[in-house]
Amino acid sequence: MIDVRARSALEQGLGGAIRFDVPMSRHTALRVGGPADAVATPKDCEQLALLLRLCAHHELPHSVFGAGFNVLVRDGGIDGVVVLLRKLRRIELRPGPVVFAEAGVSHTSITRFCVEQGLAGLEFAAGIPGTVGGWVAMNAGIGCRELSDVVRDIAVISRDGESERCWGRDELDFRYRGLHGLPAGSVVVSASLAVRAAPPAAVRAEVDRLMTRRAESQPLDTPSCGSVFRNPTGEFAGRLIERAGLKGERVGGAQISPLHANFITNTGGATASDVLALVEQARQGVRESSGIELETEVVIVGRTT
Ligand SMILES: Cc1cc2nc3c(=O)[nH]c(=O)nc-3n(C[C@H](O)[C@H](O)[C@H](O)COP(=O)(O)OP(=O)(O)OC[C@H]3O[C@@H](n4cnc5c(N)ncnc54)[C@H](O)[C@@H]3O)c2cc1C
Repeated sequence: MIDVRARSALEQGLGGAIRFDVPMSRHTALRVGGPADAVATPKDCEQLALLLRLCAHHELPHSVFGAGFNVLVRDGGIDGVVVLLRKLRRIELRPGPVVFAEAGVSHTSITRFCVEQGLAGLEFAAGIPGTVGGWVAMNAGIGCRELSDVVRDIAVISRDGESERCWGRDELDFRYRGLHGLPAGSVVVSASLAVRAAPPAAVRAEVDRLMTRRAESQPLDTPSCGSVFRNPTGEFAGRLIERAGLKGERVGGAQISPLHANFITNTGGATASDVLALVEQARQGVRESSGIELETEVVIVGRTT
């Protein structure tokens, strides 16, 4: 709950950029999740810093969302302010060469930019849905390529909104599907990603090839949150779930995808509880059939009651 004083300070400071009691099902790819106390969409880094200062002053928790492609929000909703960065969408080619992109730039915008400008190096990420901020925070990747291969530096605003700092690649502790070591609550506001000049047609052809392959193996036409579990070393979570006989399993409106068992889809009217029940079923099934303990990749957030 946001008390009256904090609410009025947020309204005064952010005007139309903040809304209250917003269902998070509107802001997650899985289309589930209860209401956030507030959702803010700052128009630029200055307004973001102001928002973070107000949150710190009023002791309100904040959480950052990209496009919500890898988060599962519980039905109880989220305490405090959810920050959406989709208005931070400046993108430009800079010496290096690097593509400088603000955190809210979508995977489709940056891919289009690279194709139009004839820039190779980011094709592997073209089909990973989300924003540049989410790509960096999750160290998104596919096969043996991941964001850490191309990040040159990132800009980060501190939790309390008081400072902004550039972190060079060598200072960043990227690991499998995660970026560690940034102070808690920091917000990634931009990244510079290494690219190289290439004929636009060649960049387009590689993007198309990878997108076609993805469409054959992932349920892209139904809401999901991507891979639910991390792949254990030397194994594939999807294969383990399939071997446990759980492909196609349903709880309410949620289903373990018949196409790719590491995806849970919302086939219509699913709740977060339905999805979480399937997560536990998969975990237990794999534990019993393979003796392996699966860890979630999807970021699970929100009130438990
Ligand atoms: C169909 C489908 C296919 C997918 N395929 C892949 C794949 O091949 N490889 C892969 O790696 N992932 C994949 N994913 C997962 C998802 O696309 C990636 O994790 C992506 O990076 C999420 O970006 P996002 O902007 O939506 O982040 P969100 O899902 O909104 O957020 C993810 C996490 O990042 C944090 N975060 C987001 N932005 C910021 C920021 N600016 N500053 C600080 N923290 C931030 C959030 O707090 C949260 O913890 C897939 C998902 C779907 C639905």
